Amino acid sequence: MSSFSKTLRDFRSEMAETAYAAQEASNADDVAAGLLEARIDAQERASGDDKFEREDAIEPETEREPRVVERVDARSNAASAASVPNIMVVSQLRKGYVKGKKLIPVLRGVDLSVRQGEMLAVVGQSGSGKSTLLHLMGTLDTPDSGTIYFDGQRIDNLPIGQRDVLRNHYIGMIFQFYHLLPELTTLENVLAPLMVRHSVLSYLRQRDGYVKRAKELLDLVGLSHRLKHKPNELSGGEMQRASIARALMTNPRVLLADEPTGNLDSKASAGVLDLLRELNREQGLTIVMVTHDMSQARDADRAIRLVDGAVYHEE
Ligand code: ADP
Ligand code: MG
Repeated sequence: MSSFSKTLRDFRSEMAETAYAAQEASNADDVAAGLLEARIDAQERASGDDKFEREDAIEPETEREPRVVERVDARSNAASAASVPNIMVVSQLRKGYVKGKKLIPVLRGVDLSVRQGEMLAVVGQSGSGKSTLLHLMGTLDTPDSGTIYFDGQRIDNLPIGQRDVLRNHYIGMIFQFYHLLPELTTLENVLAPLMVRHSVLSYLRQRDGYVKRAKELLDLVGLSHRLKHKPNELSGGEMQRASIARALMTNPRVLLADEPTGNLDSKASAGVLDLLRELNREQGLTIVMVTHDMSQARDADRAIRLVDGAVYHEE
């Protein structure tokens, strides 16, 4: 067996294990990541090859553009100008979790739009539904009601296979606990989204180009000297940088970041935040970042606060 097939085999079994372990975990982020990985795995099994066309990935818009309920922040930068299109529009989003016989409402009608090119912070007390919102925006879960539009197309009701394709092509996600695959090196972790996108043959045909791009991204995030390190040989800040490089590997239109510095010391936090800011300013990457650090929220172009399951006001 070639070393590549061995890596891929290990990678697949790792994903299955991660998904299983995540289902066992009580942490909602872990569960979501497990679901993500399980779905990526399912997509790969179902698709077999790279037969999905990017353009075909999302169903055409079937509903009218939803009403946008949002106050424009006078302090915002140019990204808030009326001429800047919305890349994501969330309308009247509701989500609850069943506990025993009761439905506990978490999101009770969230209205929110994300403008192309902005860095938007989402703040709110622990348990206010920030991760729930981000997971819905990343199609890791489906809302009870309400709509989410991405680039003018409705995504909250996509079939699972199309949601997988959407995430694998357009939406990058990073999490507080990184969710790197422990048996893979930094470089392999960054290549992973393209490994799962393609069949083995198709991946191998394009591997050289992908490796070049992965190395460039790892250079961009300051990890050129850590290509062959496994996650347990990296610091927290380095792991988050690797997960950012992995998210960028697919060239996403939006990066959804759930407390990306929540597990880092202040120096590593500042480094990761600077990197996100730089990606936003210099590469125009749209970022939605959940944080409970108010100074980080102030650094963003805009901040919204979740209170009682709805957007309270913009700061
Ligand atoms: P935040 O990220 O703002 O801390 P979350 O979105 O993780 O908040 O959670 C909001 C509420 O929903 C919490 O009370 C949490 O316990 C509950 N919750 C989140 N995910 C689940 C789940 N999968 N099952 C049951 N309850 C959940
Ligand atoms: Mg959370």
